[in-house]
Amino acid sequence: MKGSILPGATVGVLGSGQLGRMLALAARRMGYRVQTFSPNSGSPTGQVSDREWAADYEDLDAVRSFARSVDVATLEFENIPASAVEAIEEFVPVRPGKTALRTTQHRLREKTFLRNAGFPTVPFRAVRSRSELDDALREIGVPAVLKTAGFGYDGKGQTRIGGPEEATAAWDSLGGDEAVLEGWVDFQCEVSVVGARGLDGGFAHYGVVENTHRNHILDLTVAPAQNVPPETAREAAEISRGVFEELGLVGTACVEFFLTTDGRLLVNEVAPRPHNSGHWTIDAAATSQFEQGLRAVCGLPLGSTEGLRPAAMANLLGDLWAEGEPDWGAVLSHPGVSLHLYGKAEARPGRKMGHLTAVAATANEAARLAKDARSSSQPPPEAGPLPS
Ligand code: AMP
Repeated sequence: MKGSILPGATVGVLGSGQLGRMLALAARRMGYRVQTFSPNSGSPTGQVSDREWAADYEDLDAVRSFARSVDVATLEFENIPASAVEAIEEFVPVRPGKTALRTTQHRLREKTFLRNAGFPTVPFRAVRSRSELDDALREIGVPAVLKTAGFGYDGKGQTRIGGPEEATAAWDSLGGDEAVLEGWVDFQCEVSVVGARGLDGGFAHYGVVENTHRNHILDLTVAPAQNVPPETAREAAEISRGVFEELGLVGTACVEFFLTTDGRLLVNEVAPRPHNSGHWTIDAAATSQFEQGLRAVCGLPLGSTEGLRPAAMANLLGDLWAEGEPDWGAVLSHPGVSLHLYGKAEARPGRKMGHLTAVAATANEAARLAKDARSSSQPPPEAGPLPS
């Protein structure tokens, strides 16, 4: 294909976490070289890359040196400063493009973009001062959730407001930064669509999956979603295609939705990169979300997104390390379960350390298997004293 970046070339990855690691593994399998750039060394991505650049994103000399040594750049983390992206673009393409990044880096910009483009969103208002919060609460009502406008993920920088008396504490907890007040959504479930848009504008998606969160962090993904009517699933895919197109995005990305109790889809968030709810595709789809993103970024044809078996993904958070290293032998004794660990040295509560994928005859069975396998990683609870 004309203009394609072919195997043998070097892919630059901005960010160095687990998403970059899985992308790098897919790239290396296809014969690409990989270099990663982030402020960290010994990172999950760096461990499996040809070269790891450890420098600040604001260090534009280092960014330019990195850019000179790669053929194309992509990212695994959307909060990359625009100055770094622009410096790289002096040398090689950065995909997805600047519009997708700029829009999704900032909740307020993202929600405004979605609303203006006619996509269904949660009711929201911009809040730039304590008094604006009162106005917004009057308009939106309670319960509501106040979120920082920028740099938030996995529930960081957000606080629920149950009544007007909680407004001051909520405002103070965000440190007076620009914020967004959202109405609290009464949802039956959370779903997402992971897909990819190619350089030629082609779109392919993995269908609708159902996500369960714990403490605002993804806990379990079930693929395909079990409780979504086919018409709603089609609508979710169409909205996602539209969002990708409006953003001019090239690569793998994800649209997260609430499915309300009255059956409406509301877009919660757009991630312009591979997503946690697409990890199951490594083990259970014809082309993984990581290979798909790479194909898109390199201008190659998109692969088949067919799901090979029903699957479930359970995240492994640092909390599982509280009593020492989890029992991986017990986990792996479950047929149909694969273990993915990200090479992070320090297990902190809430930190994503790895995930399990389970495949089975049905999605419900896969979900049960993934959860059982995860529980088996923990020591059995201490037996209490025998009843006398
Ligand atoms: P976010 O970081 O905005 O994706 O939020 C993380 C999680 O918090 C979501 O996946 C939901 O489980 C929950 N959440 C966020 N916003 C709302 C909302 N407006 N109403 C209900 N739950 C929410």
